[in-house]
Amino acid sequence: MNNTIKTKKCTTCGEVKSLTDYHSNYTYCRPCKALVNAEYKSKNREKIARSNNKYINTEKGYTKETVDAIFQRARKIKAIRLVKNGFLNALEKIFWLS
Ligand SMILES: [Zn+2]
Repeated sequence: MNNTIKTKKCTTCGEVKSLTDYHSNYTYCRPCKALVNAEYKSKNREKIARSNNKYINTEKGYTKETVDAIFQRARKIKAIRLVKNGFLNALEKIFWLS
């Protein structure tokens, strides 16, 4: 039986570690991934803050995209309702006349 523990060399720190030190398909180990994540967060802090700011600055705390989506949905529902009503009216007329 082959009892060798599978290992992988981390592309970030260069250390050879057991596969349990890696997230499934990552080429860097868990500690390195944590560092990468922390770096990403700090690099994007400004971006995240800006998007939060955008949210807060709009009326009632909705972003333009959210408001647009709500209106778009409302228009769609209204259109469906009109079609349904039109269909019912047509049916009523048919039965009324017959
Ligand atoms: Zn590493």
